[in-house]
Amino acid sequence: MIYNVSTLLSKPVGEIRRHEFTLKSFNTGNEFFSNLKCNLKMMKTHKNILVYGEINTNLKDVCSRCLVPIKIGIKTSFEEEFISLYNITTNNFDDYYEEDLNSYIIDKNNELDLSKILKDHLISIIPIKKLCKITCLGKCTLCAINLNLEKCNCN
Ligand SMILES: [Zn+2]
Ligand SMILES: [Zn+2]
Repeated sequence: MIYNVSTLLSKPVGEIRRHEFTLKSFNTGNEFFSNLKCNLKMMKTHKNILVYGEINTNLKDVCSRCLVPIKIGIKTSFEEEFISLYNITTNNFDDYYEEDLNSYIIDKNNELDLSKILKDHLISIIPIKKLCKITCLGKCTLCAINLNLEKCNCN
């Protein structure tokens, strides 16, 4: 997910490059995804690169109520400007500034790494309630039977 954008940076504003990549698995630390496909459009802006990405993937998790494993299809997109450290005025590279730590940076090798934005974006769109189905009955709080499959005599 690292792209060298030196040629694109030398192109006029509005120049576009398209890429795509597939990852068998990807995780944000807490969440696990499979079959992640990403279509990218990179556009040269005045000084930087605007990256637009469309993501198709499956979130692997367990149902919040009955705890069976589930896969949730996710289709989402992000758009972010990656800041080039190259300074046209001084013909040199700027150092990292404090505020840049929160930005997405094109490093001194003119490389743009998508792993951070992918993580940040996926974390931001994860559903709070992850259910196997809207009508999931969950587990019995006393005997822990999966009430979607069986009935118990606890109540
Ligand atoms: Zn469930
Ligand atoms: Zn029960």
